[in-house]
Amino acid sequence: MVACPKCAGWIDVDEEDVDEGDTLSCDECGADLRVVGTDPLELESAEDLEEDEDEDDLLEDDEEEESDEEWK
Ligand SMILES: [Zn+2]
Repeated sequence: MVACPKCAGWIDVDEEDVDEGDTLSCDECGADLRVVGTDPLELESAEDLEEDEDEDDLLEDDEEEESDEEWK
């Protein structure tokens, strides 16, 4: 048994039946997982490897208009 890195659900897999680099899918969430280690058995999401995360830093101009000073 090994925990799914995606949903933390338990996946019924025999450590002796898998090799590093094998892919399997989680019964709980259906995520594609890759075996990255067998001692101990370790899985990572195969989807994360293909993910390209572009961080768009949206700089918003937040200029406040100065209110006119009131002179007494
Ligand atoms: Zn899962």
